[in-house]
Amino acid sequence: MIVVMQGSATGEEIAAVEEQLEKSGFVPHRIQGAFRTVIGAVGDPQAAKVTGLERLPGVEKIVPITAPYKLVSRQFKAENSMIKAGPVSIGGEALAVMAGPCAVENWSSLITVARLVKKSGARVLRGGAFKPRTSPYSFQGLEHEGLKLLSRAGKETGLAVVTEVVDVRDVDLVARYADIIQIGARNMQNFTLLREVGRCGKPVLLKRGLAATVEEWLMAAEYILAEKNYQVILCERGIRTFECSTRNTLDISAVALVKQLSHLPVIVDPSHSGGNWRLVLPLSLAAIAAGANGLIVEVHLNPAEAFCDGKQSLTPDNFSHLMGRVAQLAPALGRTLAAPEQDTGGA
Ligand code: PEP
Ligand code: MN
Repeated sequence: MIVVMQGSATGEEIAAVEEQLEKSGFVPHRIQGAFRTVIGAVGDPQAAKVTGLERLPGVEKIVPITAPYKLVSRQFKAENSMIKAGPVSIGGEALAVMAGPCAVENWSSLITVARLVKKSGARVLRGGAFKPRTSPYSFQGLEHEGLKLLSRAGKETGLAVVTEVVDVRDVDLVARYADIIQIGARNMQNFTLLREVGRCGKPVLLKRGLAATVEEWLMAAEYILAEKNYQVILCERGIRTFECSTRNTLDISAVALVKQLSHLPVIVDPSHSGGNWRLVLPLSLAAIAAGANGLIVEVHLNPAEAFCDGKQSLTPDNFSHLMGRVAQLAPALGRTLAAPEQDTGGA
């Protein structure tokens, strides 16, 4: 439920309501709006019971949240959440584009791709250091060394970095190097991992599971917010369907729907959705038209030689072309895209 405080409620009155909620078995989550404070109260409805709240001084009304997810719902918070990571803010009219290789392979290709995607307007560098692979014999990532390279590339270019954590034991390590921590599709319902990234203090990019419903995806996000980490970016990356001519099926309906159901930003991964670099441009444009707040795109200097996901990776030139088309589309939808960097003749 949501406790809406009166605009004139004092700090003591708000604290008294929170104390009462805690005594009754709820966890209060306070949102300080421009004109009033609202307190989201979450807890096991079987265990948590509260009476007489509406009679406490400063309380305007109590509103039940009907959806099973609470803190992520628009009922809890009507305005869009803005998630800040390094130089970018994700969730508003400005589109946030994240780009880079599927996996960090070596320093020279990483820094070259980072500089090129930045030049085309990307603001976040992606790259896996811990890779969840279908086969235990496939390249598993450079791990700690990969994190160091990513963070160095982020510092040298001014890009924020996003990278995946696959094991709960590595959350602190990854949080030391990353600006945004990615939870991959295969771990979307790894609840221990979700709680741990909820405690890490860094923004989290939560990918939708391969076979997860929208409600399961939002419930997964709820785990992170329940730990008082409200910095969650949702990422639609395609789901498994009967269709096998694409790697996954990009669920455009889910993008539009989740924007209505939740205040959290939603971005789209056109690379893992289609599994084919030729589909990345049309899927990206469709995603933005459906209301996505940004994209995460795989880019590789030489896709044919990529350690993983080369088939769906764009060359830097193709990425630059994509960004040009996104920049053309954005104003028609009331969106903006950071201008590409002026070529100063340097790196
Ligand atoms: C990735 O981003 O490289 C990745 C493994 O994505 P997903 O978890 O969506 O498959
Ligand atoms: Mn990949």
